[in-house]
Amino acid sequence: MAKKKNTTSGYKKTLCTKCTGLCCRYFALPLDTPEDWDDYDDIRWYLAHKDITIFVEDGDWYLNVINKCRYLSEKDYKCGKYDLRPRICRGYETETCDHISDDYDYDYEMNFTSDMQMEEYMKIKFGPKVFDKLEKKKKTRKKKKAKK
Ligand code: SF4
Ligand code: SF4
Repeated sequence: MAKKKNTTSGYKKTLCTKCTGLCCRYFALPLDTPEDWDDYDDIRWYLAHKDITIFVEDGDWYLNVINKCRYLSEKDYKCGKYDLRPRICRGYETETCDHISDDYDYDYEMNFTSDMQMEEYMKIKFGPKVFDKLEKKKKTRKKKKAKK
């Protein structure tokens, strides 16, 4: 299930009017904990995509999609679909939301923002020469092309 922290009505109204809609600018989905090379390499692939980050919190891995909801207005930061907003938005609580919660201080156990970072992590995990095999294949292909 998508990860959003959790509003009491009066408090929500006050706090949300001072906020630019932080909670409507991303969503995070849980991932299976990576166990082997293929799992980490899949995560490396996720991270090759624009506006994707991966974070680990309390041992759980999440794929973070940094992409604004189409209904969030950039003029007044209000929801353009408020009465029909999805369940996840309805269950969101300002007591622990992005605007005030310490949980959102980016105090993750790990936070990857690019595939290069994951490559470095994979080198630590699987050995510094772990990508050499892929480099060798690349060189062999170049040689074959040059011979043609
Ligand atoms: S992050 Fe919190 S204060 Fe900001 S819009 Fe969302 S619920 Fe309201
Ligand atoms: S539907 Fe409304 S409350 Fe939900 S994420 Fe989009 S702008 Fe935010």
